[in-house]
Amino acid sequence: MRYTDHAVLVPSINQETCIECGLCQKVCPVITPNIKPNQVIKCYAAWSTDRRLLENAASAGVVTTLGYHTIQNGGMVFGARFDDKRLVITGASTLKELLEFQGSRYVHAFVGQSFIEIKRYLDSGRRVMFTGTPCQVHGLRQYLQKDYSNLLTVDLVCHGVAPMSYLNEYLSEKGIDDYDNVVFRGKHGMSLVVSKDENILYRKYKFVDLFYMAYLKGLLSRENCYQCPYSSPKRYGDVTVGDFWGLERTSDMPNHPFISVLFTNTAKGEQWINELRDSIQCVEKPLEMALKKNGQLNRPCTRHRGRDRFLALYPDRGLVKSIKKSPFYRDYLKRAWRYRALLFASNLKHFITHGTSV
Ligand SMILES: Cc1cc2nc3c(=O)[nH]c(=O)nc-3n(C[C@H](O)[C@H](O)[C@H](O)COP(=O)(O)OP(=O)(O)OC[C@H]3O[C@@H](n4cnc5c(N)ncnc54)[C@H](O)[C@@H]3O)c2cc1C
Repeated sequence: MRYTDHAVLVPSINQETCIECGLCQKVCPVITPNIKPNQVIKCYAAWSTDRRLLENAASAGVVTTLGYHTIQNGGMVFGARFDDKRLVITGASTLKELLEFQGSRYVHAFVGQSFIEIKRYLDSGRRVMFTGTPCQVHGLRQYLQKDYSNLLTVDLVCHGVAPMSYLNEYLSEKGIDDYDNVVFRGKHGMSLVVSKDENILYRKYKFVDLFYMAYLKGLLSRENCYQCPYSSPKRYGDVTVGDFWGLERTSDMPNHPFISVLFTNTAKGEQWINELRDSIQCVEKPLEMALKKNGQLNRPCTRHRGRDRFLALYPDRGLVKSIKKSPFYRDYLKRAWRYRALLFASNLKHFITHGTSV
């Protein structure tokens, strides 16, 4: 893997050491996509019934609950956590390790040696659960070249990922050079939260954080994300998990900010979910309801009209200056000020009514 001029990590063949076996191209999901996606079997609104697993979750804790049961049955769970200021895919065999995966990070997770490790566990007969972006799930299945009955895969509905180097550059500009976790969606909802030893170093709601908004508005993702072929109801995981936007809530659903959308895409996935009905509450819903308001189940995220300018400036000016020179920045400032004004008005109203600040 090497960095481009835009600090994006991409695969590259070292011609000096290449033995021209062609294996990398044979398993590449872009060059030789020889595995067919699955159709959704059932669509559910779903949430974890285990409060411990829900608290720090990105959405409704479904992924962590699936992982917890895999570990309890002696399996290994692979997911993304921070190691030395880099998001990496790695294995967990204890609850403590599993909880480090919780939350959504909108940056590219480094696969490293994890697929090799997964294959080793699978060949030894151990159960393995892998969660990742749909391209990573497809990549793993292509790498394995065969179906394993002891592999369970979860693909996330995905808006795209920004390069990890952008996040470090951004945090460094804020004077944060030492952290051990970053979450964009978790205990504090849709806020960018950076921490070290569980102490919060930085926390900003999405509307007032430049990086968060630039990501959401399609300025920062890896270029391939804007043509993502996985933004559709055709899925590569045994199950798919995302947010159930547009869900018509009923009184039996919890008052949690997020309820997840859960698709079962294979018979194995459907059986897996059925076995865990005590831990994951599922209410079957029409697929159309889930697709209607969830953009990334229909199309890739939109590339911002200012992205070309951002890319042109980036090699000389770096991340923050290039974002600020793009047409995105004016819209961001307007939205951030509107949000701050609304927050101020609501705090003032609370103070007048209750005599205390919020
Ligand atoms: C980059 C990204 C973009 C997303 N975009 C959307 C979207 O547009 N629409 C939508 O409906 N849902 C989206 N999601 C999914 C959603 O935010 C939740 O992750 C999902 O609903 C699972 O929630 P949970 O509570 O079950 O997860 P948790 O129980 O909190 O577990 C989170 C899991 O996500 C994995 N994870 C976190 N970040 C990454 C990453 N960068 N790469 C690989 N794996 C990661 C962790 O390893 C962990 O297994 C996105 C998630 C990610 C990571």
